[in-house]
Amino acid sequence: MNTAKPYKTVVGLEVHVQLKTETKLFCRCSTHFGASPNTQVCPVCIGLPGALPVLNAKAIELAVRAGIGLNSRIASFTKWDRKSYFYPDLPKGYQTSQFDLPICAGGYLEIDARDPATGEMVRKKIALVRAHLEEDAGKSMHDETAGRADTRIDLNRAGTPLLEIVSEPELSSAEEAKDYLTEMRLLMMYLDVTDGNMQEGSLRADANVNLHIERDGKTIATPIVEIKNLNSFRAVERAVLYEASRQWDVFQETGLTIGQSPKQTRGWNDATGQTEMQREKEDSADYRYFPCPDLVPVTLKETDIEAARAAAVKTPAAIRKSMVETHGLKENEAEILVQQGRRVVDYFEELVHHGATAKRSASWMLQDVLRYLNENSAPIDDYPVPAHALAQLLTSIEMGKLDTSRGKEALSKLLADTEMTVDQAIASLGIAQVDAGEFEAMCRQLLVENPGVVEKVKAGNEKALASLVGQAKKMNKNADPKRVQETCKKMIESGDI
Ligand SMILES: [Zn+2]
Repeated sequence: MNTAKPYKTVVGLEVHVQLKTETKLFCRCSTHFGASPNTQVCPVCIGLPGALPVLNAKAIELAVRAGIGLNSRIASFTKWDRKSYFYPDLPKGYQTSQFDLPICAGGYLEIDARDPATGEMVRKKIALVRAHLEEDAGKSMHDETAGRADTRIDLNRAGTPLLEIVSEPELSSAEEAKDYLTEMRLLMMYLDVTDGNMQEGSLRADANVNLHIERDGKTIATPIVEIKNLNSFRAVERAVLYEASRQWDVFQETGLTIGQSPKQTRGWNDATGQTEMQREKEDSADYRYFPCPDLVPVTLKETDIEAARAAAVKTPAAIRKSMVETHGLKENEAEILVQQGRRVVDYFEELVHHGATAKRSASWMLQDVLRYLNENSAPIDDYPVPAHALAQLLTSIEMGKLDTSRGKEALSKLLADTEMTVDQAIASLGIAQVDAGEFEAMCRQLLVENPGVVEKVKAGNEKALASLVGQAKKMNKNADPKRVQETCKKMIESGDI
């Protein structure tokens, strides 16, 4: 809690998620990032008179899936509205969006947050107002080439489908705002509705920020400021922190509260670390919303919604829960795996599916697999050892065929030679499965040669068995230390020497 601060920060976020479609929302132009300016445009997305939009069904499918992942109500009937405003990079003079009948309503996203009363971390549900579909505008490029003072327009992005997800003002700090955006991105990537690439603008946020100040037993609110186009987690956190402290200064100077001055739109300047006044905010009447006459409303069938529900099962929250409750992993182990993305989680689940225990699978993934991926900057799909092979190695260790350190050597062999099988890797280390009869004979010989150890164990000192491990390794370097000790103990207990 902001115990040192005389105010409470109140934040609502609007997150714009670029949906992972091949083509734009209302035309067949490519959405591929990075093409030369104005090469992915057509009469529809540059707004030539008479050009007619046709809806991309994939965008609806992804928006419904996102809405289900956000626990929202999916509208069975949704329509398109024109939001009129002028921007140089919006040649139509309006944006096709959704006004009164958005595709998703309500819902929530859970984050970890500090309980203001106890200071402990708790799960906090951030309620959502709505999520609606809209098309993106183009991009104004100011001075992006050295020596140029003009502004050029690139319309490749115009018409790209966005899902705008609007939260209630329930985030209480800059840190919570950052955590919310982080979890939102993770969820949207797990649902495969966006590539989540923030450098390319696939996820951007606007933050509505004001303060609640306690005065004479009453709560006073400062005017709301909307900070536009925050395109990194760090920008969200810094902008909210800066804006809260700026509003506190302004309030102390002017005493102005909500309603006494108009809502402002401010831009975030990452270089100066400040928000800058852009304009006084329009309200929705200024946009002259009206139903788009060129597009028919969308009616969703129950079967479409059910299909989306089936595709939205693997959310980060559901996977964390199953890892902890079903597989017995620690919360931080589950969290690290979940943060790596869905393909890494799939790999873990495959290990378990092929018979490795969840504990050992998680431990090897956290130590060995993730280290390899980091060192080689590789995605899990490029990990040289397939899950079924690593699972076979892990089960060999569980069965006592080799110990953990020899197991790691075998993994190195597998990483170095992708043609090698697990059996070949184990064999190449000189490890062949120790025959059960041979193994017992070896243990018996150890006990006969070490009567002192036998006496100690009989007297209750089981730790004495450890001294046999080194000798066993000399006799057979593949002898598993745990199995040596267990077998010798049983022999002594049963008098079978
Ligand atoms: Zn187009």
